[in-house]
Amino acid sequence: MLNDCLFCAILGGEIPCSKVYEDDYVLAFRDINPQAPVHVLVVPKEHIACALDIGEENSFFVSKCFEAIAKIAKAEGLENGFRVVNNCGIDGGQSVMHLHFHLIGGEKFAEKII
Ligand code: AMP
Ligand code: ZN
Repeated sequence: MLNDCLFCAILGGEIPCSKVYEDDYVLAFRDINPQAPVHVLVVPKEHIACALDIGEENSFFVSKCFEAIAKIAKAEGLENGFRVVNNCGIDGGQSVMHLHFHLIGGEKFAEKII
């Protein structure tokens, strides 16, 4: 492992995942501890630690993540709606310091966070 990043290890194939989508810029796989019937992690193939590190040099990867989210949502039958969550940093509860978006759905969420 070049760095100590779990998702870089998954991207490098050193740790297995349950892949649901892949292109040149994005890998998406099922969360190991799902919080909804569908819970997919959408991960850029470049190591960006968190949302604070998004800038014009790498925001292309964020666009590609959201293109992937639209494709995965349709493939997973989430046309009725879903939620996308990004936890950033200590206060945001981020536990893996490689930017990722949680795509959750498959049920009507009882509570709104925002
Ligand atoms: P966060 O807390 O926003 O950083 O999200 C990290 C997510 O990664 C959590 O929802 C974990 O359940 C998930 N996770 C941790 N290890 C793995 C793994 N090996 N494969 C899939 N998901 C994982
Ligand atoms: Zn990483």
